[in-house]
Amino acid sequence: MKIAVISGKGGVGKSSISTSLAKLFSKEFSIVALDCDVDAPNFNLMFDVKDKKLLEVIYRELYKINENCVKCGKCLDICQFDAIEDFKINPILCEGCGACELICEFNAIEPVKHESGYIYEGFIGFPLIWGELEIGESGSGKIIEHIKRHAKKYKAEIELIDGPPGVGCPLISTVKDVDLALCIVEPTKSSVNDCLRLIETLNFFDVEYLVVENKKGMNAINYPFKIFHSIPFDFDVPKLIANKILLCDSNSRVSEAIKELYEKLKEFI
Ligand code: SF4
Ligand code: SF4
Repeated sequence: MKIAVISGKGGVGKSSISTSLAKLFSKEFSIVALDCDVDAPNFNLMFDVKDKKLLEVIYRELYKINENCVKCGKCLDICQFDAIEDFKINPILCEGCGACELICEFNAIEPVKHESGYIYEGFIGFPLIWGELEIGESGSGKIIEHIKRHAKKYKAEIELIDGPPGVGCPLISTVKDVDLALCIVEPTKSSVNDCLRLIETLNFFDVEYLVVENKKGMNAINYPFKIFHSIPFDFDVPKLIANKILLCDSNSRVSEAIKELYEKLKEFI
């Protein structure tokens, strides 16, 4: 079963809940954890992974101008991304569309491979696979596809995915083949609005979901959707996270609530 823990925006406690769920699941099931929040992976930090193994380098195709260039300027005109300046291609702005290569009559533009991200593996009592996108790079959806491919080798009963925040391409890559999405929301107007957009996206892709409220009691709010489970607000949570203590391992009511969530989730397996 593939379960993705996602949120409409960052900072609502998605990763602190997913790391605890991974640990709880690992006690009763074979599990592989996937950190698909490739812009800011933190699963490996929470579990303090020491020996990480590089599984794959992800490349994207870029272009460069070579010495055949006669400076006719045609490539500058065709580039929709203003990536060519002084007859040099800026790798940050280049989207790799290849239009410049097609327009150049002098074979002065050639493709080059550019490292855009990495996929790692570590063992934290169970396997963890995560991706890291290079700073300034795009293409998180592609990296997520590769993380999922690597996870398949474990044939685990549970694939627990820490997804990216938001509703863009990385989210769609994350949820498109999951069995269940857990949408984490906190009692703030902006989080509720983001969660509504998330639900709209999940409905569009026909993904089954449950909404989990985190930080219950922080604010009074009426949710326009059904809450499956609530985890209370607790001032000690930031301290626990800073000390790399998983919430499920703490001696707190948050821990109890996460364990209750885990028990309720087991009914879906
Ligand atoms: S189209 Fe080719 S020859 Fe013309 S400026 Fe660009 S690289 Fe140089
Ligand atoms: S590949 Fe596309 S985006 Fe990159 S420089 Fe050429 S035209 Fe511009």
